[in-house]
Amino acid sequence: MKALVKYASGQGNVDVRDVEEPVCAENQVKIEVAFCGICGTDIHVLHDTFRNYPPVILGHEFAGRVVEVGRSITRVAPGDAVTVLGATAVTCGQCAYCRSGYFILCSNRRGMGHGVNGAFTRYVVVRPDQVYRIPAGFALEEAALSEPFAAAVQAVTEVTNVRIGATALISGPGPMGLLCLKLLAAEGVKTIVAGTAGDDTRLEFARRMGAARVVNIQEQKLIDAVREETGGKGVDAALECAGHPDSVRGCLEALRPMGRYTQVAICGHEITVPIDHIILKQLTVVGSMCYTAQTWDRMMEIFAQGKVRLGDLISVKLPLSEWRTGFDLCVKKEALKVLLYPE
Ligand SMILES: [Zn+2]
Ligand SMILES: [Zn+2]
Repeated sequence: MKALVKYASGQGNVDVRDVEEPVCAENQVKIEVAFCGICGTDIHVLHDTFRNYPPVILGHEFAGRVVEVGRSITRVAPGDAVTVLGATAVTCGQCAYCRSGYFILCSNRRGMGHGVNGAFTRYVVVRPDQVYRIPAGFALEEAALSEPFAAAVQAVTEVTNVRIGATALISGPGPMGLLCLKLLAAEGVKTIVAGTAGDDTRLEFARRMGAARVVNIQEQKLIDAVREETGGKGVDAALECAGHPDSVRGCLEALRPMGRYTQVAICGHEITVPIDHIILKQLTVVGSMCYTAQTWDRMMEIFAQGKVRLGDLISVKLPLSEWRTGFDLCVKKEALKVLLYPE
């Protein structure tokens, strides 16, 4: 079968190759991938700025149909539409983080798409506990956005204490920021979304998705817009989804005293920030890294209740052989989510 493979360490070294089709063991589930989304992590693996273990098939945001189950599997059956929690592919299961559900912080963890083979291909085999059945009426292409959406569910509903009546700021209207916006809008939280000049299309999209106000920070001072929207008080919560120093600064400035700051994006390098806002306004600053399995359970309930749909974030679907086009569209911010399908 064809697969997008990181075939050696270092910058680049990624291409479509022929690989062995995986065999479904007694305790495994074999899935035919329908769609797999391109994520920032895949681009980091391409450029070798995210740890990877070649040779490895890229891709971890996917959905598909079960085609075979091992003899001991009863949870799912061939034909089921499913999505997969790829991040738990390898964990130690013993450390304090694994035992408390925060497997993502396990030092022995290896996720699909960089640590073990991922889903930019036709078939994957996984453990049954990684498999989540997609509720009826939810499309496979939407479900391919489960993995990034789960990170938004943790950031918004589990880590950031914000509810209707509050005002939130999302800084950075990329896929993560917009997924967070979907949840905040569904919860009825008044939300301001900030971006820069290159984000105009994304900001317009955010407005249509329910943002109370969108701000291009190169045209208007974020703090002025925040004061207007909050009667001068500042926002109750800020989610930093851009990973840029200006965005971090904007969030710290926009928060009211006792407000809550959540770091959702990775900056990737050291940055200078006005840290005194934290003490002078007695802010709570927290990070949100991925999700737990419980977050995925909650996400499936959100899908089943039908209040959040994800299809509008998909800009384009391309065959695997056109992966370079897809990666470029993401890097140049010309697309939100790009899905690849096997061929
Ligand atoms: Zn991802
Ligand atoms: Zn562990």
